[in-house]
Amino acid sequence: MEKQFQQKLLQDEFLDIIGQEPAKYQLKSALLMGRHVIIAGAPGIGKTTLAKNVAKLLPEIVVNNCGYNCIPESPACPSCKNGKKADKKKIGGIKRFVRVQGSPDLTSEDLKIFKANNGVLFFDELNRCPAKLQNALLQVLEEGKATIGSYNIDFGADLIFIGTLNPYDTATENLSEVFLDRFDLVYMTYPEELETEKRIITEKGKRVAEFPEELLTSMTGFVRGLRDNSKLEKFPSVRACMGLYERAQANAILRKRKIVEEEDVKDALISVLAHRIGLKPSAKYTETTKEFLEEEIKEKFGAASGDYR
Ligand SMILES: [Zn+2]
Repeated sequence: MEKQFQQKLLQDEFLDIIGQEPAKYQLKSALLMGRHVIIAGAPGIGKTTLAKNVAKLLPEIVVNNCGYNCIPESPACPSCKNGKKADKKKIGGIKRFVRVQGSPDLTSEDLKIFKANNGVLFFDELNRCPAKLQNALLQVLEEGKATIGSYNIDFGADLIFIGTLNPYDTATENLSEVFLDRFDLVYMTYPEELETEKRIITEKGKRVAEFPEELLTSMTGFVRGLRDNSKLEKFPSVRACMGLYERAQANAILRKRKIVEEEDVKDALISVLAHRIGLKPSAKYTETTKEFLEEEIKEKFGAASGDYR
Protein backbone atom coordinates (compact mmCIF):
# COMPACT_ATOMS: atom_id res chain seq x y z
CA MET A 1 0.00 0.00 0.00
CA GLU A 2 1.01 3.56 -0.66
CA LYS A 3 3.32 5.53 1.63
CA GLN A 4 0.74 8.30 1.79
CA PHE A 5 -1.83 5.86 3.17
CA GLN A 6 0.57 4.61 5.82
CA GLN A 7 1.29 8.17 6.88
CA LYS A 8 -2.40 8.94 7.23
CA LEU A 9 -2.94 5.70 9.09
CA LEU A 10 -0.39 6.79 11.68
CA GLN A 11 -2.04 10.18 12.15
CA ASP A 12 -5.75 9.46 11.83
CA GLU A 13 -7.84 8.68 14.87
CA PHE A 14 -10.82 7.06 13.12
CA LEU A 15 -13.08 9.75 14.50
CA ASP A 16 -16.20 8.43 12.77
CA ILE A 17 -16.28 5.85 15.55
CA ILE A 18 -16.81 6.97 19.13
CA GLY A 19 -14.74 4.98 21.62
CA GLN A 20 -13.44 1.50 20.63
CA GLU A 21 -9.83 2.57 21.21
CA PRO A 22 -8.42 -0.98 21.51
CA ALA A 23 -10.06 -2.02 18.21
CA LYS A 24 -8.74 1.08 16.44
CA TYR A 25 -5.24 0.42 17.73
CA GLN A 26 -5.25 -3.25 16.68
CA LEU A 27 -6.66 -2.42 13.26
CA LYS A 28 -3.98 0.19 12.61
CA SER A 29 -1.27 -2.16 13.73
CA ALA A 30 -2.49 -4.92 11.37
CA LEU A 31 -2.97 -2.57 8.41
CA LEU A 32 0.48 -1.04 8.79
CA MET A 33 1.86 -4.48 8.00
CA GLY A 34 -0.62 -5.00 5.18
CA ARG A 35 -2.25 -7.94 6.93
CA HIS A 36 -5.72 -9.27 6.23
CA VAL A 37 -8.13 -8.39 9.00
CA ILE A 38 -11.44 -9.66 10.31
CA ILE A 39 -13.38 -7.39 12.63
CA ALA A 40 -15.38 -9.49 15.07
CA GLY A 41 -18.31 -7.99 16.90
CA ALA A 42 -22.08 -7.87 17.35
CA PRO A 43 -24.24 -6.16 14.72
CA GLY A 44 -24.69 -2.42 14.97
CA ILE A 45 -21.49 -1.51 16.77
CA GLY A 46 -19.80 0.21 13.85
CA LYS A 47 -17.78 -2.42 12.01
CA THR A 48 -18.74 -0.99 8.61
CA THR A 49 -18.13 2.58 9.76
CA LEU A 50 -14.67 1.65 10.99
CA ALA A 51 -13.79 -0.04 7.69
CA LYS A 52 -15.08 2.95 5.72
CA ASN A 53 -12.95 5.15 7.92
CA VAL A 54 -9.94 3.21 6.65
CA ALA A 55 -11.01 3.70 3.03
CA LYS A 56 -11.36 7.43 3.57
CA LEU A 57 -7.62 7.59 4.20
CA LEU A 58 -6.78 6.25 0.75
CA PRO A 59 -5.35 8.99 -1.46
CA GLU A 60 -6.62 9.68 -4.96
CA ILE A 61 -4.91 7.59 -7.62
CA VAL A 62 -5.15 7.26 -11.38
CA VAL A 63 -6.13 3.80 -12.62
CA ASN A 64 -7.09 2.18 -15.89
CA ASN A 65 -10.82 1.98 -16.47
CA CYS A 66 -10.48 -1.73 -17.28
CA GLY A 67 -12.70 -3.04 -14.53
CA TYR A 68 -9.70 -4.11 -12.48
CA ASN A 69 -8.40 -0.71 -11.40
CA CYS A 70 -4.96 -1.45 -12.79
CA ILE A 71 -2.19 1.01 -12.04
CA PRO A 72 -1.03 2.07 -15.56
CA GLU A 73 2.67 1.52 -14.76
CA SER A 74 2.14 -1.92 -13.26
CA PRO A 75 -0.94 -3.53 -14.81
CA ALA A 76 -2.41 -6.62 -13.16
CA CYS A 77 -5.25 -7.78 -15.38
CA PRO A 78 -4.76 -9.88 -18.54
CA SER A 79 -6.12 -7.16 -20.81
CA CYS A 80 -3.80 -4.39 -19.56
CA LYS A 81 -0.87 -6.79 -19.40
CA ASN A 82 -1.37 -7.49 -23.09
CA GLY A 83 -1.02 -3.79 -23.75
CA LYS A 84 -4.66 -3.10 -24.52
CA LYS A 85 -5.32 0.63 -24.11
CA ALA A 86 -7.87 1.66 -21.51
CA ASP A 87 -9.25 5.03 -20.43
CA LYS A 88 -7.95 6.32 -17.15
CA LYS A 89 -9.95 7.44 -14.15
CA LYS A 90 -9.27 8.94 -10.77
CA ILE A 91 -10.40 7.13 -7.65
CA GLY A 92 -9.80 8.14 -4.06
CA GLY A 93 -11.11 7.73 -0.54
CA ILE A 94 -14.46 6.01 -0.24
CA LYS A 95 -14.51 5.39 -4.01
CA ARG A 96 -11.84 2.81 -3.33
CA PHE A 97 -14.17 0.91 -0.98
CA VAL A 98 -16.04 -2.17 -2.23
CA ARG A 99 -18.52 -3.99 -0.05
CA VAL A 100 -19.53 -7.62 -0.44
CA GLN A 101 -22.36 -9.04 1.66
CA GLY A 102 -21.68 -12.59 2.81
CA SER A 103 -24.53 -15.06 2.32
CA PRO A 104 -24.94 -18.82 1.86
CA ASP A 105 -25.75 -18.46 -1.86
CA LEU A 106 -22.86 -16.15 -2.73
CA THR A 107 -20.78 -17.45 -5.64
CA SER A 108 -17.21 -16.60 -6.57
CA GLU A 109 -18.54 -14.51 -9.48
CA ASP A 110 -20.13 -12.21 -6.92
CA LEU A 111 -16.85 -11.57 -5.17
CA LYS A 112 -16.13 -8.31 -7.00
CA ILE A 113 -12.51 -8.66 -5.98
CA PHE A 114 -11.33 -6.96 -9.16
CA LYS A 115 -13.28 -3.85 -8.39
CA ALA A 116 -11.52 -3.70 -5.05
CA ASN A 117 -8.05 -3.89 -6.57
CA ASN A 118 -5.95 -1.05 -5.14
CA GLY A 119 -8.66 -0.34 -2.60
CA VAL A 120 -10.49 -1.82 0.37
CA LEU A 121 -12.45 -5.03 -0.03
CA PHE A 122 -14.96 -5.04 2.79
CA PHE A 123 -16.47 -8.47 3.23
CA ASP A 124 -19.42 -8.33 5.58
CA GLU A 125 -20.47 -11.43 7.55
CA LEU A 126 -17.80 -13.77 6.28
CA ASN A 127 -19.16 -16.57 8.43
CA ARG A 128 -22.30 -16.72 6.32
CA CYS A 129 -20.37 -17.83 3.25
CA PRO A 130 -20.15 -21.41 2.04
CA ALA A 131 -16.80 -23.19 2.46
CA LYS A 132 -16.27 -23.24 -1.30
CA LEU A 133 -16.33 -19.48 -1.42
CA GLN A 134 -13.97 -19.18 1.51
CA ASN A 135 -11.49 -21.25 -0.49
CA ALA A 136 -11.92 -19.07 -3.57
CA LEU A 137 -11.31 -16.01 -1.45
CA LEU A 138 -8.17 -17.48 0.06
CA GLN A 139 -6.88 -18.28 -3.39
CA VAL A 140 -7.19 -14.68 -4.41
CA LEU A 141 -5.78 -13.22 -1.22
CA GLU A 142 -2.92 -15.67 -0.85
CA GLU A 143 -1.95 -16.65 -4.35
CA GLY A 144 -3.38 -13.85 -6.45
CA LYS A 145 -5.33 -16.43 -8.43
CA ALA A 146 -8.94 -15.85 -9.38
CA THR A 147 -11.53 -17.83 -11.27
CA ILE A 148 -13.82 -16.04 -13.66
CA GLY A 149 -16.46 -18.34 -15.07
CA SER A 150 -14.50 -21.44 -16.00
CA TYR A 151 -11.18 -19.61 -16.41
CA ASN A 152 -8.39 -19.53 -13.90
CA ILE A 153 -6.45 -16.32 -14.14
CA ASP A 154 -3.41 -15.11 -12.31
CA PHE A 155 -4.21 -11.76 -10.91
CA GLY A 156 -1.79 -9.83 -8.76
CA ALA A 157 -4.46 -8.08 -6.76
CA ASP A 158 -3.27 -5.48 -4.30
CA LEU A 159 -5.97 -4.71 -1.80
CA ILE A 160 -6.76 -4.16 1.81
CA PHE A 161 -9.02 -6.93 3.00
CA ILE A 162 -11.33 -6.23 5.91
CA GLY A 163 -13.89 -8.90 6.75
CA THR A 164 -16.43 -9.03 9.56
CA LEU A 165 -18.00 -11.76 11.57
CA ASN A 166 -20.65 -11.76 14.22
CA PRO A 167 -19.60 -14.04 17.08
CA TYR A 168 -23.19 -14.11 18.39
CA ASP A 169 -24.57 -15.43 15.13
CA THR A 170 -25.45 -18.94 16.24
CA ALA A 171 -26.70 -19.99 12.81
CA THR A 172 -23.21 -19.97 11.40
CA GLU A 173 -19.85 -21.00 12.75
CA ASN A 174 -18.20 -22.50 9.78
CA LEU A 175 -15.01 -20.56 9.24
CA SER A 176 -12.36 -23.24 8.99
CA GLU A 177 -9.13 -23.19 10.99
CA VAL A 178 -7.18 -23.02 7.75
CA PHE A 179 -9.17 -19.95 6.75
CA LEU A 180 -8.87 -18.16 10.08
CA ASP A 181 -5.12 -18.82 10.13
CA ARG A 182 -4.76 -16.30 7.29
CA PHE A 183 -6.27 -13.38 9.20
CA ASP A 184 -5.77 -11.28 12.27
CA LEU A 185 -8.88 -10.63 14.32
CA VAL A 186 -9.83 -7.26 15.71
CA TYR A 187 -12.50 -7.32 18.38
CA MET A 188 -15.14 -4.64 18.74
CA THR A 189 -17.29 -4.66 21.85
CA TYR A 190 -20.45 -2.92 22.93
CA PRO A 191 -19.50 0.59 24.12
CA GLU A 192 -17.29 0.16 27.17
CA GLU A 193 -18.98 2.92 29.18
CA LEU A 194 -22.61 3.92 29.59
CA GLU A 195 -21.62 7.52 28.90
CA THR A 196 -20.05 6.49 25.59
CA GLU A 197 -23.23 4.78 24.49
CA LYS A 198 -25.27 7.84 25.48
CA ARG A 199 -22.92 9.99 23.41
CA ILE A 200 -23.29 7.73 20.38
CA ILE A 201 -27.08 7.70 20.42
CA THR A 202 -27.46 11.42 21.07
CA GLU A 203 -24.91 12.38 18.40
CA LYS A 204 -26.13 9.96 15.75
CA GLY A 205 -29.83 9.71 16.56
CA LYS A 206 -32.56 12.14 15.52
CA ARG A 207 -33.50 14.85 17.96
CA VAL A 208 -37.04 16.23 17.97
CA ALA A 209 -37.76 16.57 21.69
CA GLU A 210 -35.87 17.26 24.86
CA PHE A 211 -34.55 14.11 26.52
CA PRO A 212 -33.86 14.55 30.26
CA GLU A 213 -30.38 13.32 31.18
CA GLU A 214 -31.59 11.10 34.01
CA LEU A 215 -34.12 9.32 31.81
CA LEU A 216 -31.53 8.88 29.08
CA THR A 217 -29.24 7.25 31.63
CA SER A 218 -31.88 4.86 32.92
CA MET A 219 -33.02 3.94 29.38
CA THR A 220 -29.47 3.26 28.21
CA GLY A 221 -28.77 1.41 31.44
CA PHE A 222 -31.81 -0.79 30.82
CA VAL A 223 -30.53 -1.78 27.36
CA ARG A 224 -27.02 -2.41 28.69
CA GLY A 225 -28.44 -4.50 31.52
CA LEU A 226 -30.10 -6.80 28.98
CA ARG A 227 -26.65 -7.57 27.54
CA ASP A 228 -25.72 -9.11 30.90
CA ASN A 229 -29.01 -10.94 31.33
CA SER A 230 -28.37 -14.67 31.73
CA LYS A 231 -31.65 -15.60 30.00
CA LEU A 232 -30.58 -14.01 26.71
CA GLU A 233 -28.36 -15.26 23.92
CA LYS A 234 -29.04 -12.44 21.47
CA PHE A 235 -28.55 -8.95 22.81
CA PRO A 236 -29.85 -5.49 21.88
CA SER A 237 -27.44 -3.51 19.71
CA VAL A 238 -26.41 0.11 19.95
CA ARG A 239 -28.73 0.63 16.99
CA ALA A 240 -31.57 -0.71 19.17
CA CYS A 241 -30.67 1.77 21.87
CA MET A 242 -30.73 4.56 19.29
CA GLY A 243 -34.13 3.32 18.14
CA LEU A 244 -35.46 3.69 21.66
CA TYR A 245 -34.01 7.17 21.89
CA GLU A 246 -35.83 8.24 18.73
CA ARG A 247 -39.11 6.43 19.40
CA ALA A 248 -39.40 7.78 22.95
CA GLN A 249 -39.14 11.30 21.51
CA ALA A 250 -41.79 10.51 18.91
CA ASN A 251 -44.07 9.25 21.67
CA ALA A 252 -43.63 12.53 23.53
CA ILE A 253 -44.53 14.50 20.40
CA LEU A 254 -47.63 12.33 19.89
CA ARG A 255 -48.65 13.23 23.42
CA LYS A 256 -48.13 16.90 22.58
CA ARG A 257 -45.12 17.31 24.84
CA LYS A 258 -41.69 18.71 24.06
CA ILE A 259 -39.99 16.82 26.85
CA VAL A 260 -39.67 13.04 26.97
CA GLU A 261 -41.16 11.30 30.00
CA GLU A 262 -40.80 7.78 31.33
CA GLU A 263 -44.04 6.52 29.79
CA ASP A 264 -42.69 7.50 26.35
CA VAL A 265 -39.69 5.25 26.85
CA LYS A 266 -41.83 2.41 28.21
CA ASP A 267 -44.19 2.52 25.25
CA ALA A 268 -41.27 2.21 22.83
CA LEU A 269 -39.54 -0.72 24.51
CA ILE A 270 -41.52 -3.66 23.09
CA SER A 271 -41.74 -2.31 19.57
CA VAL A 272 -38.03 -1.58 19.41
CA LEU A 273 -36.51 -4.38 21.48
CA ALA A 274 -38.65 -7.55 21.46
CA HIS A 275 -37.52 -8.80 18.03
CA ARG A 276 -33.94 -7.68 18.51
CA ILE A 277 -33.25 -9.95 21.45
CA GLY A 278 -33.26 -13.73 21.68
CA LEU A 279 -33.90 -16.00 24.66
CA LYS A 280 -31.72 -19.00 25.39
CA PRO A 281 -33.42 -22.33 24.56
CA SER A 282 -33.94 -23.02 28.28
CA ALA A 283 -35.96 -19.82 28.67
CA LYS A 284 -37.67 -19.94 25.29
CA TYR A 285 -40.15 -22.63 26.35
CA THR A 286 -41.62 -20.68 29.21
CA GLU A 287 -41.95 -17.21 27.71
CA THR A 288 -41.69 -15.11 24.58
CA THR A 289 -39.28 -12.19 24.27
CA LYS A 290 -42.27 -9.87 24.62
CA GLU A 291 -43.33 -11.48 27.91
CA PHE A 292 -39.73 -11.47 29.08
CA LEU A 293 -39.47 -7.75 28.35
CA GLU A 294 -42.75 -6.95 30.10
CA GLU A 295 -41.30 -8.49 33.26
CA GLU A 296 -38.01 -6.63 32.92
CA ILE A 297 -39.83 -3.35 32.31
CA LYS A 298 -41.96 -3.88 35.40
CA GLU A 299 -38.85 -4.55 37.45
CA LYS A 300 -37.00 -1.55 36.15
CA PHE A 301 -39.70 1.07 35.80
CA GLY A 302 -42.41 -0.17 38.18
CA ALA A 303 -45.84 -1.65 37.54
CA ALA A 304 -47.58 1.34 35.98
CA SER A 305 -47.24 0.91 32.26
CA GLY A 306 -47.82 3.18 29.32
CA ASP A 307 -51.04 3.04 27.34
CA TYR A 308 -49.89 1.95 23.91
CA ARG A 309 -47.71 -1.13 24.19
ZN1 LIG B 1 -6.40 -3.69 -16.14
